[in-house]
Amino acid sequence: MNFADSEIVGAILSKEHYLITKEIDQADYILINTCAIRDNAEQRIRKRLRELKALQRQRQWVKIGILGCMAERLKQQLMEEEDNVSFIVGPDAYRKLPEMLAHIHDGEKLAETLLSDSETYADIEPVRYDTNGITAYISIMRGCQNYCAYCVVPYTRGRERSRDPQTIVNEAKELFAKGYREVTLLGQNVNSYKWVSGDGTVGFPQLMALVAEVSPLLRVRFATSHPKDLSDDLLKVMAKYDNICKCIHLPVQSGSERMLKLMNRRYTPEWYLDRIAAIRHYLPTCSITTDVIAGFCTETEEDHQATLEMFRKVRYDYAYMFKFSMRPNTYAEKHLNDDVPDDVKTRRLEEIIALQGDIALENNQKEIGKEYEVLIEGVSHRSDAQLFGRNSQNKVIVFDRGGLQPGQYTNVRVTRCTSATLIGEVTDK
Ligand code: SAH
Ligand code: SF4
Repeated sequence: MNFADSEIVGAILSKEHYLITKEIDQADYILINTCAIRDNAEQRIRKRLRELKALQRQRQWVKIGILGCMAERLKQQLMEEEDNVSFIVGPDAYRKLPEMLAHIHDGEKLAETLLSDSETYADIEPVRYDTNGITAYISIMRGCQNYCAYCVVPYTRGRERSRDPQTIVNEAKELFAKGYREVTLLGQNVNSYKWVSGDGTVGFPQLMALVAEVSPLLRVRFATSHPKDLSDDLLKVMAKYDNICKCIHLPVQSGSERMLKLMNRRYTPEWYLDRIAAIRHYLPTCSITTDVIAGFCTETEEDHQATLEMFRKVRYDYAYMFKFSMRPNTYAEKHLNDDVPDDVKTRRLEEIIALQGDIALENNQKEIGKEYEVLIEGVSHRSDAQLFGRNSQNKVIVFDRGGLQPGQYTNVRVTRCTSATLIGEVTDK
């Protein structure tokens, strides 16, 4: 999501004739887009700011700005704590950037952190940075008001709002015309996507169908869906279109009913497993990935075992696994105790990681012998003689180059694997 936001910022500044550079030694302004989801994300930014002081001694005119969630969370306080920061801009105030850059040279320090109920940057065509020219993100909604007890997002990104579907479809069409072959629709809870107008209501399943119809050669993915809102309607639309990728990211957070309640996730393990069964029913080839938090407030050994059990039952293809980090202003910070000792959190996280590593390897071993259509994304990091791409299930497959090019589709049979990668051979003749 931050990446998509940086592309919007790039567009806003390019329009005012600012040039974007990847060479930090050439920059007059350094804009750092930040995340506030866990404390270590913020600590990394603070370290980076200290490192940038050396550069600022050489190039004294360089101004540093902090964008995004950390700016929103700390507001003015961040500039008081970090003396080399000249401006801070929250996620709904990026349009103010050109005006701000014009003013900070008088030594003024500026902060714009007002959140909005309507800003979706729908009219802005993002500047694609670091792009492979094949896969791109489209932000379809902003904000979140689910208020999971551990999560800072509702406080840093404001209320949920959806973007006009026509602007989303147009962006997908333009990307396709430029040669892109895959779009990922982004939102904190894409299933809540809802656009109401005189022409009726467009929900997420309808939006997916609209984007899928741009071209059968354009793959469509999405992230993230909240288990409480994962509807059969969406699964049916996914089954109907071959170009909607068969991969669902469904963050579970915990396998314990008590923890899920305390986290305010608004589903039970039974509900979650029912949704997994629905995915397997409608989309038998679908891969499933998740997010999980180890060591949330009051988590017992029994709760932790319930999480491991959930992993054994679902057999995720991939998981983002985190140690709980208490965040200011959240329900947890106000009402609960961060009482699981750090070494216990670490041990539980390591147990989840080890189990998931075994499951991912076993899942991948079952892929050997299967054939997949792969969208080629680029040259393998290991060898110029090999290409890599992904199948619909979002698994990376590496194979010999032959005469193929990134951006093409090809069929590949899996011959070997690791827990992270499939290795195969092209079967197209
Ligand atoms: N909107 C998405 C996730 C957004 S944040 C969803 O609801 O699934 C991405 C992930 O970060 C979350 O799924 C959660 O696993 C993790 N996370 C959020 N807050 C956290 C915290 N305080 N400590 C540790 N992990 C956290
Ligand atoms: Fe955070 Fe929950 Fe919203 Fe996801 S759904 S962004 S975890 S509050």
